[in-house]
Amino acid sequence: MKIGIPKETAPGETRVAFVPALAGALLRDQHEILVEGGAGRAAGIDDAQYAAAGARLLGSAPELYASADLILKVQPPSVAEAGLIREGAAYVGFLAPFGNTPVLQVFLRRRITGYAMEFIPRITRAQGMDALSSQATVAGYKAVLIAAERLGKMFPLLMTAAGTVTPATVLVLGAGVAGLQAIATAKRLGARVEAFDPRPAVREQVKSLGAMFVEMELPKDAETAGGYAKELSPEFIQKEMEAIGARLPKVDVVISTAQVFGKKAPLLVTEKMAGLLRPGAVFVDLAAEQGGNCELTRAGETVMHHGVAIIGAVNLPATVPADASALYARNCFNFFRHLFPKPGAEPDPADEIVKGACLTRGGEVTNDTVRKLLGAP
Ligand code: NAD
Repeated sequence: MKIGIPKETAPGETRVAFVPALAGALLRDQHEILVEGGAGRAAGIDDAQYAAAGARLLGSAPELYASADLILKVQPPSVAEAGLIREGAAYVGFLAPFGNTPVLQVFLRRRITGYAMEFIPRITRAQGMDALSSQATVAGYKAVLIAAERLGKMFPLLMTAAGTVTPATVLVLGAGVAGLQAIATAKRLGARVEAFDPRPAVREQVKSLGAMFVEMELPKDAETAGGYAKELSPEFIQKEMEAIGARLPKVDVVISTAQVFGKKAPLLVTEKMAGLLRPGAVFVDLAAEQGGNCELTRAGETVMHHGVAIIGAVNLPATVPADASALYARNCFNFFRHLFPKPGAEPDPADEIVKGACLTRGGEVTNDTVRKLLGAP
């Protein structure tokens, strides 16, 4: 099979969906690897490294798309890029179907088999393919560094001849994959860390990282069978806001990551509540692209409010492109090996992972959520 890796074209995207270290195993299975010239440059991988690993470099995107049987990509293709994918070929990458119906329509017209990395079920045997987790890990880490860089105060406790520096206090809202990584990173930098998440299982995870859990009565049905947070009642959110509001005057940094899959992010900090933060405090909102956890958040912008910087973080993994690409590429590689375990094998459409990730095949929608989205029969 010819596997094609195009250069990403979305503004600000620096990652690449394949790294040279993974080439050997694919070549041994008789696959061919086609890479668009410059595809890895922003992630620190030059064309010569791909060529040395056995990949064939192609000069242009149309040539790459026209030659490949399967495309590996990070960002969803534009409508124009989707139109370049060979009819009947396959696509593996993020697809963000909720905002990308025109691309899905092109996939249907061109009978492209579309696998969405964000739809891979989050079950134990698919952990190695879980790109949402690998990229959230990078985002959680980077959010803390952004806050530390912006804050006019150091994170650790220092006792020096010139006096004592008290540690910074960091509040993490939402302790899933990104939040737990933010806690671990802030702890390593020496901050005092507190966190909140409505899923009861998270309390122990937070404590095991040495952070304090912001206590309040947790809902009994906060979690879906798959371990995701459910959308919570307005009454619970109101109580949660009161608990958060009580902490805000005491913290230097807020990192918010609260999300509910497929929904707008919960609003946890109103404009009035943001006013409780001390001047100089920093709020990094990782839910910015889903509407934000803070009322003042603007995706891709930093809003100043009474001396507090509210940072609407967007695509942080792209700011750490070398490691984010290596992790994402490994997720895609593992998924590819799951689809095609040996040369000549075909994906098993009944397999839970294949079924979960596949959105379109043979001109038809194969996923119920996307079927509703497109109004397809
Ligand atoms: P996410 O990005 O969808 O949400 C981030 C966090 O926000 C979650 O922890 C969620 O509980 C929290 N949240 C939702 N509403 C909130 C509110 N009102 N206030 C505060 N926090 C709120 O989640 P994620 O990090 O992608 O994953 C969440 C969970 O999914 C994991 O912790 C785990 O249980 C499960 N998961 C399982 C696997 C696996 O088994 N392979 C892999 C990854 C994740």
